[in-house]
Amino acid sequence: MGASLVVVTTAAAAANALAELLASRHGLTPRLLTPTTLLTEDSDDVARACEAFGDVRVHRSAPAWPLASTLLKSAAPMVIAPGVTIGGPALLMVAGPCAVENSAQLKTVGDAVVAAGAHAIRGGAFKPRTSPYSFQGLGREGLALLAAYKARSGTPIVTEVLDTREVAAVAEVADVLQVGARNMQNTALLRAVGDTRRPVLLKRGFGATVDELLHSAEYILAAGNDRVMLCERGIRTLESCTRFTLDVGGIAWLKQRTHLPIVVDPSHAAGRHDLVLPLALAGVVAGADGLLVEVHDDPSLARSDGEQALTLAQFSALMTALVPVAAAVGRVVHQPASIDGGRR
Ligand code: PEP
Ligand code: MN
Repeated sequence: MGASLVVVTTAAAAANALAELLASRHGLTPRLLTPTTLLTEDSDDVARACEAFGDVRVHRSAPAWPLASTLLKSAAPMVIAPGVTIGGPALLMVAGPCAVENSAQLKTVGDAVVAAGAHAIRGGAFKPRTSPYSFQGLGREGLALLAAYKARSGTPIVTEVLDTREVAAVAEVADVLQVGARNMQNTALLRAVGDTRRPVLLKRGFGATVDELLHSAEYILAAGNDRVMLCERGIRTLESCTRFTLDVGGIAWLKQRTHLPIVVDPSHAAGRHDLVLPLALAGVVAGADGLLVEVHDDPSLARSDGEQALTLAQFSALMTALVPVAAAVGRVVHQPASIDGGRR
């Protein structure tokens, strides 16, 4: 499809009638973006026909990702779990191990990051590893550990789904379904998570442009799931001092073009624990609505990504360092100790 045109009508009946008219008189196959909004090809003739239909708003040269763009919707806070919101003044903090390893680890790390101000715990049960010989995650057993931790603590869970065949099982446990960098353009998986009503954290592929990231988000939105968060986690460049290059410019560019909340993952970008803090701060200044950070109680024993994991103390220090930086860009950092009198 070339340039596209978006027509906003006032009622579903009007949208259907206009779609029929564009099909019969102009040979087009318009698509319903929402019950009252159509997407079709852009031309002077089509624009005139829509205007003549009356009571419509016509947007010519619409973005290729109209649902992800700010054309039809402005940025607004998004609820991603009971009582947890992203996109408001409070930075969303998600922290936890790269992989779920055992129940003691989940409890130690989960309880500590929540005490330090995290809203949700991350941890992969299904891990996308470069080598088939590396630890692939605990799979279903890992999901069961996440479910048990959530049942005990009430802490919302963010965990990755690798495969369409696992979407239902992961969605039963996860508050947020993570689609990893390596799956950003797995269109079958995008459609499958789009068919759920779970919020999705869509990570940018390390060889993908931000435009391609928005196209991938559009797959999920077009399937009817309107809770998508975009995650910048670093891209591959000629630079090798970090594992990936955090694309700070891409974050700022996205902020101007999408209403979707943006999460920054400084851990995978840095690839080393001592650079996680500065990259987290940079992400927040560039416009991140939330952070996804890898934390381990003993990084030297981590079964994956130990080099980039923060210790519990380092995560606490990150939360403290974020306060003035967040304030400088109009954000606040959740400090549970100040809410419950420091009992935790
Ligand atoms: C992860 O979050 O542990 C992960 C595998 O991330 P990515 O898909 O960004 O590599
Ligand atoms: Mn990891």
